[in-house]
Amino acid sequence: MIRRTASRFGLIADVHANLQALETVLAHLDSESVTEIWCLGDVVGYGGDPSACIAIVRERCAGTVRGNHDAAAVQPELRATFNPHARAAIESQAELLEPAERAWLAALPPLIELDDVVLLHGSAVDPAEFPYVLTESDARRELETQSASWGFFGHTHVPAAWRRDPSGPVEGMVLPAPPAALALDPPGRYLVNPGAVGQPRNGDPRASCAIFERGSARLHRVALDYDIAAAQSAIRRAGMPAIEAQRLEVGR
Ligand code: ZN
Repeated sequence: MIRRTASRFGLIADVHANLQALETVLAHLDSESVTEIWCLGDVVGYGGDPSACIAIVRERCAGTVRGNHDAAAVQPELRATFNPHARAAIESQAELLEPAERAWLAALPPLIELDDVVLLHGSAVDPAEFPYVLTESDARRELETQSASWGFFGHTHVPAAWRRDPSGPVEGMVLPAPPAALALDPPGRYLVNPGAVGQPRNGDPRASCAIFERGSARLHRVALDYDIAAAQSAIRRAGMPAIEAQRLEVGR
């Protein structure tokens, strides 16, 4: 039986071991009385607090899909495609993880299919290779086979949305500045990235998440200030590459 989501649920993606950003986003979702939260993958990698983030996501999220960093933490051969600093970060994190944490990462599903909702990290078409969805043609590749009205993904660390018209064409949508809502009305099909919690790359250093209201088909994107200096200290303390701390200030 396909599980039904709550009428209103939270979406978080790309936490990347950033405890300060994760706590800020979850406090916001609590303040909005969002009780069901789904995680779009990459709980680990880059940041200073992988174990703490795993513990919180395990406890708080209704489900989590497998990101490429989650997979690479437990499958060293997958690090070959990573750039040198991403590889250095995941290698040192992998050594720190407890067996139970590794087992949890290893068991994450590539996709979660809910009623009329699909959750993925990079690609539902090729979940093992993690291609990026950055362009209209990337989105078309996904939306041509997406049967759910709403697909939510991460991986690019850039908030974005595409719509497939019932007659076929796919086009990018303009995201309104938070807190304005984005209309995702059927019968169109949608592929939406809520932005990264822990390592944004859209030039906005704030922590992103989103709240989706099924009944009205409205997505509320959220961008929150958080304690970047504390996240940077954690990265330095954990011995992660310095670039991972620096980039948090600029959101790139
Ligand atoms: Zn990521």
